[in-house]
Amino acid sequence: MNDTNHSVTKPIEGIQYCIRCCVPETQEGVNFDELGICTACRSSEDKMHINWAKREEQLKKILNEAKTKAGNNYDCVLPISGGKDSFFQAHVLTKIYGLKPLAVTFSHNWFSETGFYNLQRCLEVFNLDHLQFTPARGLVNKLAKKSLGAIGDSCWHCHSGVGAFPLQVATRFNIPLLVWGESIAENDGRASYSTPCHKFDRDYFTKVSARLTAKEMADDTLSKKDLHPFELPSYEEINNTGVWGIHLGDFIFWDEERQTEWIRNVYGWRETEMEGTYKGYKSAECIMSGMHDFTCYLKRGFGRATWQAAVDVRNGLLSREEGFELIKQHDQERPEALDYYLKITGLSEEAFYATMKNKKIDALKDIQLPIHAKSRPNAERIVPFVEQIIQKHLHKPDPRIARDKGLDDE
Ligand SMILES: [Zn+2]
Repeated sequence: MNDTNHSVTKPIEGIQYCIRCCVPETQEGVNFDELGICTACRSSEDKMHINWAKREEQLKKILNEAKTKAGNNYDCVLPISGGKDSFFQAHVLTKIYGLKPLAVTFSHNWFSETGFYNLQRCLEVFNLDHLQFTPARGLVNKLAKKSLGAIGDSCWHCHSGVGAFPLQVATRFNIPLLVWGESIAENDGRASYSTPCHKFDRDYFTKVSARLTAKEMADDTLSKKDLHPFELPSYEEINNTGVWGIHLGDFIFWDEERQTEWIRNVYGWRETEMEGTYKGYKSAECIMSGMHDFTCYLKRGFGRATWQAAVDVRNGLLSREEGFELIKQHDQERPEALDYYLKITGLSEEAFYATMKNKKIDALKDIQLPIHAKSRPNAERIVPFVEQIIQKHLHKPDPRIARDKGLDDE
């Protein structure tokens, strides 16, 4: 397999990219066929040949059965972050199929201001009952520090929490069906539309993102008691409730760009400036996504801009060359979130880069990955929104004291 298009300068010399899009060989789970085309490009061809009307009939059947079985209980668990998929999932379930979902959110406790707004807006416009779990600040900070050395990014608590919390709710509230958004086939390369992951896998998030179980994360500073909220329900509990899940993207033709535009116009969903990429959606709820993607870049030579450019090239919105230019501009930029990360963990920047050097995959060991300084401050403050609110009020004079003082002065 040779990249025959020599006129295009690749983001990282020495890495093979899919000849159609911008997916690098260093992406986990990716496969190139004999022509040098990646699994995701092949999946997107499949997507055109699928009988979506038939798939939607299947969806209707699944949701109607869930409704019938649920009786007075909730019809399904709807895991949401307030991101664009959350709005679309909520729209499909409540407005199109008339279901009553129980919305659940695992909060990473790193909500951006925009993300906080989006989540509240989602709950309000779709009139959703909602459960949220938020780990304590001290626990989040400790886990963020441990996570880097353990799995090579800062986000173990989020990877494992988004997997565990909806399952805990499903088993405790006895709601068998979970409804996620985008199909795994679209971006992952580990599944395809013809073999969608209909079969429920309790350990999916542990395998693909968290890597380590809650017990494996325990050490002298993090007790098993601290980590209890991240425990998955047992297989027995899962079986007793009959928990299973679907991705709407396996049943409905998923068009990210169009859906985003639509929820923005119809429901007032907001984008924000995202570190490490050129788009303002996907993980817009988290101030640390730039940090997560930068560690991916240091490990595997690509970040979020690569991933999004690959999708845009595949969908004909960008040329491959334009994609590569955007990747160089964004993936290689040191995020402002790194400053916040160093602050909450007490790590030095040298220690951070030393850890990341150990995490770099073998294929990149001899390749120097360029890093640029960020030329402008981020549009949104890289401080959790709840901390921003607290700081604002702590420094504001108490209105009652001001009023009493005013009376005294008279
Ligand atoms: Zn491709």
